[in-house]
Amino acid sequence: MNTAAPVVIVGAGPAGATAALSLAEAGISSVLLDDNGAAGGQVWRTGAADLGPPLAYTDARGDELRRDLKRHGDLIDHRTGHEVVGLFPDLRLWVLEGGETVTSLHPKAIVVATGALEVFAPVPGWTRPGVYGLGGLQALMKTSRVVPDGPVVLGGAGPLLRLVAAQLASFGAEIAAVVDAAPWPSSGQVLRLASQPGLLAKGLAFEWGLLRRGIPVHRGSAIVEVAGDEEADSVLVAPVDENWRPVDGPRRRLEARVVGLGYGVRSNVELTRLAGCEHTFSASRGGWHATRNRDMETTVENLFLAGDGGGIGGVEVALAEGVIAAASVSERLGQGDRLKTKAAKARGRMVDLVRFQDALADWSGVRPGILAGSTEDTIICRCEDVTRGEIAAAVAAGYTDIGPVKMNTRAGMGLCQGRTCTPALQAIMASETGRPLAEAGLPTSRAPLRPVPLKALAQLPLDEAVE
Ligand SMILES: Cc1cc2nc3c(=O)[nH]c(=O)nc-3n(C[C@H](O)[C@H](O)[C@H](O)COP(=O)(O)OP(=O)(O)OC[C@H]3O[C@@H](n4cnc5c(N)ncnc54)[C@H](O)[C@@H]3O)c2cc1C
Repeated sequence: MNTAAPVVIVGAGPAGATAALSLAEAGISSVLLDDNGAAGGQVWRTGAADLGPPLAYTDARGDELRRDLKRHGDLIDHRTGHEVVGLFPDLRLWVLEGGETVTSLHPKAIVVATGALEVFAPVPGWTRPGVYGLGGLQALMKTSRVVPDGPVVLGGAGPLLRLVAAQLASFGAEIAAVVDAAPWPSSGQVLRLASQPGLLAKGLAFEWGLLRRGIPVHRGSAIVEVAGDEEADSVLVAPVDENWRPVDGPRRRLEARVVGLGYGVRSNVELTRLAGCEHTFSASRGGWHATRNRDMETTVENLFLAGDGGGIGGVEVALAEGVIAAASVSERLGQGDRLKTKAAKARGRMVDLVRFQDALADWSGVRPGILAGSTEDTIICRCEDVTRGEIAAAVAAGYTDIGPVKMNTRAGMGLCQGRTCTPALQAIMASETGRPLAEAGLPTSRAPLRPVPLKALAQLPLDEAVE
C-alpha cells in the first residue's frame, strides 16, 4: 500500500479515475479512494463479472477505465470500499474502511471527485415500502441485474428518468408509465441541445426505447401521492404548471407496485463543506457546489474539485475536469507541465458541453414548485421522522436560517446526515421565508460523515480524535 503518495483522490468515477490516470501519465503516484467495490462511479457502476446480458444504453468506457487503473497499479493505489468521513482545511482526511477502521491521511494535494446525489421531492406516502430513488433502482440493476416486479411507475424529471425507464424496460420490467414534470422541450431548447448531437441522440434513443414498447409518458405531470395499505399499490398523478405546481385538471390513479422517484441530481458537497470551501448556487449546474478557479482549485489551497461534485455537468465534463485537475496538481507539486496540452484540449471541449448542460437544466432543472405535492403531514426527513409542518412551524417561530431549523427540528441530523432531505428542506425554507431557493442556504457538515465505531476513532492519533 502506497501510503506516501503525495496526492489523494476521493471518488473513482469518471472524474477521479481520469485524474489518477492522468497523474500516472505524468509519473505521479496517487491514492484513489472510493466507497464502492469497483471503479466507475454512478455512470459506469458495475457488479460481478458474470452478470449476464449487458445493460442497455451504456458504453464500454467503464470496463476500459477499470482495466487502465489495474495497468497503472504501480502508481495508482486504488482502495475500494474506503469511505472518506472527514476532510479538514489542513488537508487531513479520515478514511473509514470496512465500517470498522478509521485511518488518517495527510497528502500534499487532494482531488475531490465525489460526484452527485439524487434530488427527491417528498409526497404523501413516499416512505412506503416499494418506493425507491431512480438511482437506487438503477444501482440494483447495474450491480446485480435486479429487475422489480411490476407494474412500475417512474416519476420526476431530467435525463435519468427516461434512462432508467428505458433500461428497466429492456430487461423486461413492466413499466406502466413515466410521469415527467417537464413538458416537451421547446424548439429553442431542442436547438441548443442539438449543439451536442451525440448526447441529443442518446436522449432520443431513450425516448424511442419507451415509444416502441408503448410505455406512456405523461408530460407536465407529477406523482402527488403514493397510496397503499402498507406497501405501495398505486400513485396519484396530477398535471403541473411550468414551475411544477399541481394545477386543476384531470387526476389519474395508476396501479404501481414499485415506484421510482427522482427530480435530477445535485452536487455532493459533504466533503467540500467539511473542508471549509466557499460554496455558490447555480441553478443550471444543479444548485449548490464549491467554487473553483479555472484550474479546478477550490478556495482551500491544494484542494481541487473535479466532476459533478463541482456543479452538474455530466460524464463528458467529468472526464475533462479530471484531466484539468490532474494537470493543476502536477504543476503545483512542481512535477512539470507534461499534462498542459491535454488539459488545454479538455478545456476546449468543455465550452460546448457546458452549453448543452445549461440547455438541459433550462428544460428539466429543478423548479420552485418541486415540493408543492407535499402536505403538512408529509415526512421530509426520513431518518428523524420530521414533517413539513414541523419545519414550517420552526420557521414561523423565527428560525429563518437552515442551520437553526436543522437544530430545532433535527431534520437532516439522522443516519444519512441530510443526503436525502436537504433539497426538500431548502425548498421549504425558500417557500416559508419567501426567499429564492438560492438564498435558502446549506446546512453545516460535521465529521465523521457516517456512523463510526468509537473504537475506530480511538485508533486515531489522540489530538485528531479529540478534535
Ligand atoms: C444515482 C445517480 C445515477 C446516475 N446514473 C447515470 C447514468 O446512468 N448515466 C449518466 O450518464 N449519468 C448518470 N448520473 C450522472 C453522473 O453523476 C455523471 O454523469 C458522472 O457519473 C459523474 O462522474 P463523477 O466522476 O463526477 O462522479 P461519480 O460517477 O458519481 O463518482 C463519484 C464516486 O465517488 C464516490 N464517493 C462519494 N463520496 C465518497 C466518499 N465520501 N468517500 C469515498 N468515495 C466517495 C461515489 O461512490 C462514486 O463512486 C447519475 C447520477 C446519480 C446521482
